[in-house]
Amino acid sequence: MEFSSKLLERAVNEMSRLPGIGKRTALRLVLHLLKQPKDQTLFLSEALTAMREDIRFCESCHNISDVEVCEICSNAARNHAVVCVVEDVRDVMAIENTGQFRGIYHVLSGKISPIDGVGPGQLNIASLVAKVQAGTVQEVIFALSPTMEGDTTNFYIYRQIKDYGVTTSAIARGIAVGDELEYADEVTLGRSILQRVPFENSLKGQ
Ligand SMILES: [Zn+2]
Repeated sequence: MEFSSKLLERAVNEMSRLPGIGKRTALRLVLHLLKQPKDQTLFLSEALTAMREDIRFCESCHNISDVEVCEICSNAARNHAVVCVVEDVRDVMAIENTGQFRGIYHVLSGKISPIDGVGPGQLNIASLVAKVQAGTVQEVIFALSPTMEGDTTNFYIYRQIKDYGVTTSAIARGIAVGDELEYADEVTLGRSILQRVPFENSLKGQ
């Protein structure tokens, strides 16, 4: 791609480092910003700079936060004895949106994935184990994605905490609400049969 301006080229190069943004898309976005009032670009760059400079991670659950201890962890109305283990902030947001969970979270910031070079030491696992060892946790809910990496991570943590008298559970895996049974894949359908629940429980949330 030949540029008529070094400034334009630099902006496009930086923009195209973002995931899913190729050079053409980057050029389109940069040209869009050029057409908009100057303030819009300044607000964007200020927002990004402030996010990088000032954002923190909650000391307790490692979720992204503006303060030392996040709003969820500092909320006395939440049940601090029930800890939901998730991969990242998007999972916290998704579960919070359901309005069904009143415990607290523990954000691992990834999953164990040897292929990607991610070992347990790079994740927030030690602090979770320490919490369980301290005896303040009654139940740990594993809410990682049902992938091989997710299962590996769950099992790794489970082995570290199982001897401390804590209840462990995993989010249910099965047929999605509104799905036709015949279109479910066999692994999902098989799990749904094995992990069937008392009928009264299936009425909850309706
Ligand atoms: Zn927190």
